[in-house]
Amino acid sequence: TRVLGIEGTAWAASAAVFDSGTDDVFIETDAYQPESGGIHPREAAEHMHDAIPKVVERALEHARETQGDERPAGEPPVDAVAFSRGPGLGPCLRTVGTAARALSQSLGVPLVGVNHMVAHLEIGRHTSGFDSPVCLNASGANAHLLAYRNGRYRVLGETMDTGVGNAIDKFTRHVGWSHPGGPKVEEAAKEGEYVDLPYVVKGMDFSFSGIMSAAKAAYDDGVSANDASGGSSDGSDGVPVEDVCYSLQENIFGMLTEVTERALSLTGSDELVLGGGVGQNARLREMLAEMCDQRGADFHAPEPRFLRDNAGMIAVLGAKMYDAGDTLPLEESRVDPDFRPDQVPVTWRTDEPD
Ligand code: ATP
Repeated sequence: TRVLGIEGTAWAASAAVFDSGTDDVFIETDAYQPESGGIHPREAAEHMHDAIPKVVERALEHARETQGDERPAGEPPVDAVAFSRGPGLGPCLRTVGTAARALSQSLGVPLVGVNHMVAHLEIGRHTSGFDSPVCLNASGANAHLLAYRNGRYRVLGETMDTGVGNAIDKFTRHVGWSHPGGPKVEEAAKEGEYVDLPYVVKGMDFSFSGIMSAAKAAYDDGVSANDASGGSSDGSDGVPVEDVCYSLQENIFGMLTEVTERALSLTGSDELVLGGGVGQNARLREMLAEMCDQRGADFHAPEPRFLRDNAGMIAVLGAKMYDAGDTLPLEESRVDPDFRPDQVPVTWRTDEPD
């Protein structure tokens, strides 16, 4: 099976071709880079409008160049067009949905509607070969733990406010660093020492907004969580940014790791996969790997090109859905900015026990 995947939920205008025979995933991505501030939905949608045709053309070119003898010239180079239906920014999703419908019609192949968060999970299941892992999705707009039960991916724990990457990006905007902030925090944290910041886990859920306010206050005024008097020890006003970055990482990733451990314990699973752009962070991976090691669980983090938003994961899950007959009639192909992973009937895991 060969599937064209298209991704455009937020910043990545991306197209990919997955061939299930060779397991080859070709990805072409054009990233939206805001001139200042964070992601602006209308500007991001304009980026999709400009960039999607080009990345799709490159992906289709690749599909034609690698078209084997079993697929005669003149036939469509792919069996289906898969696209991200959500969750994501409405204006971006609509632009990409329109492109996907048009391509499915012009190529004469079915449409497959993929949930972006389930794709973040399934790419890890695909590259790890694990049967039934727990998945931690740590991305820009989301943070949650998923596990399969009775035909659905259940949300075992999630953020009560912002996504984990967006929270980090809000802090770095405050400091004046350009988007995306995650890699800059990771770099700065290498030189930092721990200062007290809130740590908020409630049951299986976590919250990031209080930590972010505290981090901004610490940076501005030197007020850390246990230091209501303000002022840092060296007499300057703010806590050094390196210390704030280090402490942010320790607390936020510690929270994610704690809930992940509980999810493994609750489900009895001994396999963990990581998904989402924040999963590129070495400290987060280190904490998760150490926790898994201590409980004798296997840990897998896909390569970075599959962690950040990318159409490869859409094409890979799209192929599994297509093989299961899970295609989408045109008239039902509306996008959904709030599409939750537990809304998706998991049609492609028929071998799975309940
Ligand atoms: P979603 O998948 O929820 O729609 P998204 O579209 O924002 O999220 P992703 O590509 O999954 O996109 O993640 C982007 C986020 O990852 C950004 O917030 C960015 O700051 C963060 N990020 C990227 N690299 C790192 C890193 N090394 N450490 C921490 N965060 C990182």
